Amino acid sequence: MAVYSKIEVYARINFLIFIFLQYSRLTIEINPSTMAVTRTLSIIKPDATKRNITGKINSYFEAQNLRIIAQKRMKLTQEQAGKFYEVHKSRPFFGELVETMTSGPVIVQVLEGENAVTKNREIMGATNPKDAANGTIRKDFALSIGENSVHGSDSEENAQKEIAFFFAESEIVG
Ligand code: ADP
Ligand code: MG
Repeated sequence: MAVYSKIEVYARINFLIFIFLQYSRLTIEINPSTMAVTRTLSIIKPDATKRNITGKINSYFEAQNLRIIAQKRMKLTQEQAGKFYEVHKSRPFFGELVETMTSGPVIVQVLEGENAVTKNREIMGATNPKDAANGTIRKDFALSIGENSVHGSDSEENAQKEIAFFFAESEIVG
């Protein structure tokens, strides 16, 4: 068995610590849950376009490092709104939801940034403005639970579906 001097033992321990630190830094850098740049679909709803506050709302996204990489203003048909909100078809508010979403222009947009889906839900605030945290879009601008100024995808999977519902890949410029 080899006999190591004290200096050799310290050198080997130092080397192992160095390797460990390098490896842990690498795993943090490539860990997708901490670093993933993703996309989400956002809609500025008719209650907000009517009040001419689309720029104010966009500034909330940009202040939190979400980039607007696609955006268009359109008027949804009842068929489009019904299809977009199909998951809510059996809910008692479905008719009212389709009515409000088609009552004026909307701005549909793709937001990109780190953990965009979750981050946008935080920026938007709770569905009911009465429950929304201070500084969120819905706390600051929503009129009611039905007229709550913004829509945001609620999962990565739905974000991809909802983006494809409104945009061709060629219209999204990241
Ligand atoms: P979110 O928009 O926060 O994801 P939901 O997906 O649960 O909320 O609902 C979709 C939309 O339907 C809401 O943003 C809101 O405009 C409307 N809505 C939800 N619940 C109600 C309700 N109880 N009464 C009227 N409208 C509602
Ligand atoms: Mg939802």
